[in-house]
Amino acid sequence: MKLSREPLVTSARIQGRVAELAAEVSRDYAGREVILVVVLKGGFIFAADLVRRITVPVSVDFIRARSYRGQESAGPIEFQWVCEDGIAGKHVLVLEDILDTGRTAAAILDYLKRHKPATLALCTLLDKPARREVAIVADYVGFTIDNHFVVGYGLDYDQQGRELPDVWILDMA
Ligand code: 5GP
Ligand code: MG
Repeated sequence: MKLSREPLVTSARIQGRVAELAAEVSRDYAGREVILVVVLKGGFIFAADLVRRITVPVSVDFIRARSYRGQESAGPIEFQWVCEDGIAGKHVLVLEDILDTGRTAAAILDYLKRHKPATLALCTLLDKPARREVAIVADYVGFTIDNHFVVGYGLDYDQQGRELPDVWILDMA
């Protein structure tokens, strides 16, 4: 795995931004309890850092979304849902690692909506708006980036690189 010479987003910038996002979320959800639904696997490090800085009562759940992509087009998205208590009537905040075409997040939000949460919002660490194929806007965005394939801070290339503290551009050359 060949990486860019410098990180695209350093660990220090990520930590600073995560603190800001946590403050925003804590302010917006004041007086309420929030369920964070973390999209596996990529969201696990972001979630771990964010949850420790959120000051409203919070519980954590996970969802796994896999898209089976053919040669040409994105295939259907299959969910594995690990939810102990249900989300009906609760305030749900979905945590994604990155918003690319937007298909995964859109499908997850549609799916969760059917379980009748009181409110439903989306937080993504990274956003690549140039790649968007479905109309979806995150309520909270860590960093907007150009159209690069990135790894680190939870994001992988073929399961490698999730452990890196910084976000790097994968050098495809
Ligand atoms: P979307 O459905 O928005 O096209 O893609 C979302 C998923 O694709 C993300 O949750 C992530 O798993 C993967 N993905 C999209 N862009 C990148 C990227 O630049 N790096 C990595 N590691 N995964 C990406
Ligand atoms: Mg992924």
